[in-house]
Amino acid sequence: MTPGGDAAMPSGLAARLSAIDEQIADAARTAGREPEEITRIVVTKFHPAELVRELHGLGVRDVGENRQQELSAKQSALSSLDLRWHFIGQGQTNKAAAIRRSADVVHSVDRDRFADALHRAADDDDRLDVLVQVNLTDDPGRGGAVPADAVSLAEHILALPSLRLRGVMAVAPLDEDPASAFARLREVAERVRTVEPSASWISAGMTGDFAEAIAAGATHLRIGSAITGPRPDRG
Ligand SMILES: *Cc1c(COP(=O)(O)O)cnc(C)c1O
Repeated sequence: MTPGGDAAMPSGLAARLSAIDEQIADAARTAGREPEEITRIVVTKFHPAELVRELHGLGVRDVGENRQQELSAKQSALSSLDLRWHFIGQGQTNKAAAIRRSADVVHSVDRDRFADALHRAADDDDRLDVLVQVNLTDDPGRGGAVPADAVSLAEHILALPSLRLRGVMAVAPLDEDPASAFARLREVAERVRTVEPSASWISAGMTGDFAEAIAAGATHLRIGSAITGPRPDRG
């Protein structure tokens, strides 16, 4: 799954990456799924662009960032590399144009106005891949549309021609078994597919819960610290 690297003396990063990829493949087989249907996004937030370059050398092509400024800086520093940049953070309307310039996929569309701002920022015929972020907690501050609003948000996105709706995204609540939370996400994903059958992506699963996410049908995992190591302090 990850060409490159020195098998005799793998760096810590290479060893962690291949260990996680093995765990992903095991979890997929346990769930009766093919590992190839799952995209592993490495979340590189707070780490320097050099780490992203090293990951690219290990075969990583999908990377995730949750802050616009950091996304923009790393994407422009590494624009010569064939990487797909996934924006996974809370999106501010006034940052939408900058996010659109740097991201290939925006996972965190959680309200009509953010979708509108991303659409207004289109400057050519390009279509931006987007996901509806669903809030699986009772806390409105956590980001994401409430599950009952996901279909109407999906319909709003479908009316914006520069956006391509790919599916749904969520973060599991801290105080709930991730399996039950991801089961709710899967129901929302199925409802969204009734309005756009091609919107089949389910972005779910982080370091602590990716096996549960795979069991619940996740197609895109967002894994940070298990691969990158602990995030540097932002003191
Ligand atoms: C940071 C982050 C991740 C990765 O978290 P880890 O626990 O380090 O794997 C995934 N998704 C989102 C939205 C994040 O902000």
